[in-house]
Amino acid sequence: MDDIIIVGAGIGGLTLGLALHAAGIPCRIFESVPEIRPIGVGINLLPHATKELAALGLERPLASVAIETKDATFFNRFGQLIYQEPLGRAAGYEHPQFSIHRGDLQMVLLDAFRARAGAGRLNTGHHCIAIEQDESGVSVHFSDAPGGASRSTVRGRATIACDGINSAARKQFFPEEGEPRYSGVNMWRGVARWKPILSGASMVRAGWFSHGKMVIYPIRSEDADGLQLVNWVAEIETPVYRKRDWNRPGSIDDFIGAFADWHFDWLDVPALMRASDSVLEFPMVDQDPLPRWSFGRVTLLGDAAHPMVPRGSNGAGQAILDARALTSALLATNDPVAALAAYEKQRLEATTRIVLTNRTNPPDAILREVFQRTNDRPFAAIEDVISRDELLALSEGYKRIAGYSKDALRP
Ligand SMILES: Cc1cc2nc3c(=O)[nH]c(=O)nc-3n(C[C@H](O)[C@H](O)[C@H](O)COP(=O)(O)OP(=O)(O)OC[C@H]3O[C@@H](n4cnc5c(N)ncnc54)[C@H](O)[C@@H]3O)c2cc1C
Repeated sequence: MDDIIIVGAGIGGLTLGLALHAAGIPCRIFESVPEIRPIGVGINLLPHATKELAALGLERPLASVAIETKDATFFNRFGQLIYQEPLGRAAGYEHPQFSIHRGDLQMVLLDAFRARAGAGRLNTGHHCIAIEQDESGVSVHFSDAPGGASRSTVRGRATIACDGINSAARKQFFPEEGEPRYSGVNMWRGVARWKPILSGASMVRAGWFSHGKMVIYPIRSEDADGLQLVNWVAEIETPVYRKRDWNRPGSIDDFIGAFADWHFDWLDVPALMRASDSVLEFPMVDQDPLPRWSFGRVTLLGDAAHPMVPRGSNGAGQAILDARALTSALLATNDPVAALAAYEKQRLEATTRIVLTNRTNPPDAILREVFQRTNDRPFAAIEDVISRDELLALSEGYKRIAGYSKDALRP
């Protein structure tokens, strides 16, 4: 009855569970799937998020499964270098940037939660269908699976909905909202075992959406054959899209044509794609920011609160920052209603700015500028197209908005 009820054992829900446990606030997590499996492909954790995970004692286990990313490198679709800058510790941050398989990240969080809070505090096969509240607490109603017939109800002090982009709680509070907003860009994602590219710890962005853009970075260290696990995402303007599903298989023939001549001295892009066992397809979507997340004893966190297009490596990180802020708010007062309101006050405006900036000026705006200024042609010298100061300003502007400029993170 005194527990905080967390709905969803994704990145946000598990981090919140760990943070609440560390703060001595009892909680239980309820997850829809019957078994948590390491699903997904690559994800990035920037220094503002790794700082919070380090505070939870997780830097070392994460470092053992992730790549510590060292640089961001931007190219046009002819393979010409536009801009490069150091990242994470290489850029002087106290904490690293990690590029990691989402499944590896989720398993580190899951193992830590089970070991610290106790396996009994995480319940799978609980699909939230409705949340009610009264003066003394919340009642969270579950089925055993989406559409499942078996029902159960759990009482708690407050409910935090960390149930991702298809959030049931968000639909309950905003029934008229409708489907996520399609950006006009479809994504195909995959991983391949591949020899280290550039520094072996580079985050590569290349091309532009009109013809095809790529994001490429390694997520696991070299194996015995000297090959890393390399994550790639192909992003192309596509008028129609299929319903989002993180596990939807895609077909390589639907998009590889856009990259057919991407044979660069630093990477053969079609060969990388063909080396992948499977391809996942996902539309680039987000939602308009909400006017509020907290309703008495219930609030939203992570993608349930602020889904954003993945152009700034901030989806997982902002869920982690939400978890930190909510834990501090719950520590500051015994009144959960006041705590949830304080959390919303601290995080809603900050994440709204990121959701909107991810649509217009995330880091890949550098690629758009060069695409437009060159009319999508090769350049003789990048300095003739855009100055180093302009490039730096685009990059630093996003860091400030997303909360990971070096100044913001200085101890
Ligand atoms: C299967 C999967 C694969 C993903 N793969 C990638 C990827 O490769 N790259 C990437 O950048 N991002 C990926 N994401 C999204 C990424 O994890 C989030 O954008 C980000 O980390 C924010 O985390 P979150 O906790 O808010 O949401 P999520 O990490 O999406 O977690 C939401 C959790 O809630 C559970 N859930 C959903 N509905 C209910 C319900 N009604 N009741 C109970 N539980 C529920 C889900 O099963 C999931 O475990 C993936 C998400 C999922 C669920």
